[in-house]
Amino acid sequence: MTRITRTSLYQQCPHPLEENAQLPTASIAPAQLDTTSSSISYVTKPTKHTIPASHGYAAPLKAGTSFRLIDLHGQQVIDMSAFVLPFPGANFNTNTDTDSLGTISSAEHLSPSYTRFHLSGQPISIGERIHTNMDRPLLRLTHDTVHVHDMTFMSCFPRLYESHGYPPGTHRSCASNMLEAFAPWGMKYLSETRDPFNVFQNTPAYALKPIGSSRAGDYVQFEVLIDCMVGWSCCPFDLDGFNGGCVTDVQVLMGLDPGEGRENEEIVRECVEV
Ligand SMILES: [Zn+2]
Repeated sequence: MTRITRTSLYQQCPHPLEENAQLPTASIAPAQLDTTSSSISYVTKPTKHTIPASHGYAAPLKAGTSFRLIDLHGQQVIDMSAFVLPFPGANFNTNTDTDSLGTISSAEHLSPSYTRFHLSGQPISIGERIHTNMDRPLLRLTHDTVHVHDMTFMSCFPRLYESHGYPPGTHRSCASNMLEAFAPWGMKYLSETRDPFNVFQNTPAYALKPIGSSRAGDYVQFEVLIDCMVGWSCCPFDLDGFNGGCVTDVQVLMGLDPGEGRENEEIVRECVEV
């Protein structure tokens, strides 16, 4: 894949701010709350989806499969959240009520803090795992062309943009992207979003650096260890030179064999588009 220089990114932004301004719509799909049965349509075959700049996406993924996140144009951060499926009910939390159905607000989820604990505060390396808030390994990092990611910062959120002078409702955010992506699974409120794992985010020593870590074609790949709904947000933060000063599309490949290690082009060709 052609590498795009940082200079050319600034000069040829295909997504000027005006195109990113629209917020997730208020008309949210009906809640798909039957997450306790085998009715969940997991992605199990090689599948690809391009996440448009500044938008989000979520998909139910099966343990034993892998997914790959590709930065198509360079310097683009991707926030990642995940909730274990089916959503465990009260029985999971108390060991008493075996019939109680869970919701996304009570669901076991990806936890940067538990992961930091297991990694002794060090950056994640190949073979290491992201944990849940119930202390179970959820995802295993199997491939990584960048090796720079963040587990300390929250998602960007609507009030952050208001503090930068944007009127309410005029700039997308990772938090609202997650709400939009998880809405079909019962998420209703921004307060139900969780701290993300920020793929390709450059934060050495907790300092947020505007120069992104990834180049066009860079990717990271995880093996799914527990059935879960994973959501990604192509970070819309286009201020102060972050995300290359120009938010760009990213791509997710799902339903991959965990042993998949070929370069992007060949795998992308074989994936069905959704
Ligand atoms: Zn963001």
